[in-house]
Amino acid sequence: MTVDLAELRILIYPDPRLRQVCKPVTRFDDDLAALADRMLELMHEAKGVGLAAAQVGVPLRLFVMNATGEPGDDLVLVNPELHDRQKTREAEEGCLSLPEVRVQVRRALRCRLTARNTAGDHLEAEAEDLAARVWQHEVDHLDGRLIIDRMSPSDAIATKKLLHDLEEKYRASAPQ
Ligand code: ZN
Repeated sequence: MTVDLAELRILIYPDPRLRQVCKPVTRFDDDLAALADRMLELMHEAKGVGLAAAQVGVPLRLFVMNATGEPGDDLVLVNPELHDRQKTREAEEGCLSLPEVRVQVRRALRCRLTARNTAGDHLEAEAEDLAARVWQHEVDHLDGRLIIDRMSPSDAIATKKLLHDLEEKYRASAPQ
């Protein structure tokens, strides 16, 4: 797949590419590393804690994250899988593809993740609270799932106008 990295932008709801189910990465090469670097740049520019490839229109199973904001804590996770989800907790989440939308999402408090890095090396980690929440949020993106799919009926009412406005804006700007 050829991707023009300079052209990558964060897609905004309801762009249909956010709903794609992404395919596993099979080539661990320089192009993959360059894509991850560009995604980290876009994530930091947007002041986010995570960004999935689906959000920049690349239908591959990878995401980048930095749960602390510290420069050394950038992570790239390729072909991630979640295991051993334990307990659940509701907390507020936002999403770079859903500007201004904040909803309560129930997620596992703790989980384990296996993945590869851009060189193809196997990684395994356990996390709880924010990092575990970011993992689950980003893996949802790889399956075409957004936080608004998991919101409560009351959040659905509260965000109705925001979502409608985003849909109108998308319709007005989308190429015909
Ligand atoms: Zn998101």
